Amino acid sequence: MALKTVDDLHASIVGKCPKCSGAGYQIARDEHSGQFNDCSCMTTFNEYKKYLLAGIPERFWAFNHDHFRSDFYEKNSITIGSYYLWTDELGHEALRGSGILLWSGDHGTAKSAMASLAAKQGVENGLRVRWFSGTALYDLLLRDSSFEESQVLKEVDKSELIIIDEVDKIFIPVGERKLVRARLSEFFNRIYEQLVIVVATSNCPIDDLQDYPSDIVDRMYEWDALELKGVDYRRHQSRLQKLIKTNAKKD
Ligand SMILES: [Zn+2]
Repeated sequence: MALKTVDDLHASIVGKCPKCSGAGYQIARDEHSGQFNDCSCMTTFNEYKKYLLAGIPERFWAFNHDHFRSDFYEKNSITIGSYYLWTDELGHEALRGSGILLWSGDHGTAKSAMASLAAKQGVENGLRVRWFSGTALYDLLLRDSSFEESQVLKEVDKSELIIIDEVDKIFIPVGERKLVRARLSEFFNRIYEQLVIVVATSNCPIDDLQDYPSDIVDRMYEWDALELKGVDYRRHQSRLQKLIKTNAKKD
């Protein structure tokens, strides 16, 4: 079940903590001192609260780079290494206005998970972070009543790091929805003008986004593209099938 509010989050982490029974603190070992210490559940709660408010999907909250498959890591070690160097620097003035596109034509390359590492590092480094899903962006812009009152654009204005997960999945209708197209252009324009840092993921290179308005594509070309290589599951599978067949013959 997805967590929706900070209260829900508190109830699920602190409320269910077996160490402090929901109090959020523990009496110090020397109980005569009358000192109270924050329980460890509060550390987790405070961390996850920031992720929740930044819109980072819950499935990535506890994710860290140790969770990457070793073969994926080996195949992309140079790319991942330079990406980590970059994320460590988040918050430095020099990175303002920069962007990274994590793209891959292969499946299972953990693009979103990689983006979540930047988002969490940004939070840790004190940046105001906001996560957008490409598939949801069009609907969010459509729901906004007016340009001036656009919640999405307000979010952009107060963010320092924006994640656009699956930027290739933003639905851009060619015809009637001129309003949303204009807002989407403004969305990318604001990011550019306010020197917001971007981490975007895509299932294809920017060259393949032919249907996107040229002003948006131009902005995307400003980002550094990092290609991630997937693990060849198909070859792995055929090898596995051969092995199964050989073993079947033996039986
Ligand atoms: Zn606790």
